[in-house]
Amino acid sequence: MIYSQEELEAPEDTEAVITSHAHPDHSNDVQPIIEMITHCHDHPGAVFANETCLSGYSDVEKAISSYHQNLCSRVERLEEGSEYEFKDLTIKSQQMFHADPKTQGLILETDDKKVGFWTDTEYSEELLEFYEGCDIMILYISRPRDKPVSGHTCMSKAPDILEEIDPNTAIITHFGYAFLESDMGEQKEWLDEQVDSKIILAEDDMEFPGNRTLGDF
Ligand SMILES: [Zn+2]
Repeated sequence: MIYSQEELEAPEDTEAVITSHAHPDHSNDVQPIIEMITHCHDHPGAVFANETCLSGYSDVEKAISSYHQNLCSRVERLEEGSEYEFKDLTIKSQQMFHADPKTQGLILETDDKKVGFWTDTEYSEELLEFYEGCDIMILYISRPRDKPVSGHTCMSKAPDILEEIDPNTAIITHFGYAFLESDMGEQKEWLDEQVDSKIILAEDDMEFPGNRTLGDF
């Protein structure tokens, strides 16, 4: 996340940060981003994060300190069924099945488009209904086909998700080493054959949808 700030044309326009759960690969940069928003760019700053990030849960300590939460003008807890308005966005969340038990799947919705984030989770049919009507799905797929690992979604389940939700576009991201060391082109071709959605494998520094607005896509 913090490197993306170097790539942004106008990092001073950043006004909020959203994080699904407290594992370091999802929450590590939230505090420096809050400092950037509030100290460097002098915005009030908003943070949307799950309970574990904000308060800690079970043996996982909170990932966003009270100091950093107090820097923000707005701190919102993402939990099952929560729905917040921020500027022209509606942010909705549902609880997923992951080692941080409070992990949240997300929908970001504008008047034009509905973008779903299938975040870290074990696959479950129960999770699909929440994403109904999404135009774009971001799938956190850590493992290649037939190499499942508990608490995450592997490529074998991507067709089940995409056939049900039927988005125009699906972006696959959050690759673990087993995926990066697999034949990624072949993984994509396999998925292309299973579903109608346009499939994009995410790359570092990728912008989506580039310099167009979501409504243009
Ligand atoms: Zn995680």
